[in-house]
Amino acid sequence: MKLRLDRLVFLLLPVCPVVHAAPPPCVFCEIVAGTREHALVHRDDRVLAFLSIGPRNPGHTLVVPVRHAETFGDVPPDTLHAMTDVARAVAAAFPRAGLRCDGYQLQMNNGRAAGQTVGHAHLHVIPRFAGEAPAEPEEARRVAPAALASVAARLRAALAADPPPAPRPPLPALGEEVPLERIREICVAYGLPQLWRKIERDPPPRPFRSDGCTGWFDDWQGVSLYPAGFLHDLKYWAGYPGEDVERLVADAELMIDVARLLGSTAMAETMFRGVRIGGGEQLNAPFSWGFGRQPPRP
Ligand code: AMP
Ligand code: ZN
Repeated sequence: MKLRLDRLVFLLLPVCPVVHAAPPPCVFCEIVAGTREHALVHRDDRVLAFLSIGPRNPGHTLVVPVRHAETFGDVPPDTLHAMTDVARAVAAAFPRAGLRCDGYQLQMNNGRAAGQTVGHAHLHVIPRFAGEAPAEPEEARRVAPAALASVAARLRAALAADPPPAPRPPLPALGEEVPLERIREICVAYGLPQLWRKIERDPPPRPFRSDGCTGWFDDWQGVSLYPAGFLHDLKYWAGYPGEDVERLVADAELMIDVARLLGSTAMAETMFRGVRIGGGEQLNAPFSWGFGRQPPRP
């Protein structure tokens, strides 16, 4: 984002200090760390799935965030999306793994009063079928993880045939020069094929570097806004001077991306207003829009 709004931030937003408490140790963190035995179903950067040791039915899987979060409301939105992607892929894999499954249940207990017994958020994915016996109490269903190994292996094999969508590749760091090939991969991963065609047809003369959410917050209340700032920068870099509609689209997409990252709208709308306000004259703040290609630095 080619703008310098350091001072504007203080005009538009109250600044709230964010305190990060150290995550408490917990059973599922031990599973994530590999220090507790478990029957693994899936692992990626953000999500782990393993079989419950108190299965309601064979294949009963728990999908958890890698980074400790206590309940649904504590899991960052992009991780929640990754969890539901994994849950969907696991549910689709049940029949291919030879598990009885006329239907399946997604369940998330949040808070002790709602039946949550492990304080690390987890989404149950449970195969269900007609004519099941009534559920016994959870303690009576307990089995050792080793007894679940063959079901987990079948599920892993079934998932390999139709895996959950790959997590997006990490973005280049702030200020790092990004080669065109990397920009192509990012455009593919973020669903921006038209932007890539525009860049490929006529690569801008100056190499691309993102300065993230300059003058704003790259991290807002524990959530990184960098991906939104990065893509906004990329669109500005590839734009042609005078492409007012394209710039509006880029700004609106910034607002949408920020809202999706945060799962709320207020900060997103503030940032949108900020990037639309106009030039430095109106704000008495030192920044430049920079929408449009610029020649290489001499
Ligand atoms: P909830 O009542 O929603 O908190 O569910 C907790 C789930 O975690 C139950 O299905 C338990 O059987 C399961 N569980 C507890 N400890 C472990 C463990 N060490 N490995 C796998 N599953 C576990
Ligand atoms: Zn944990």
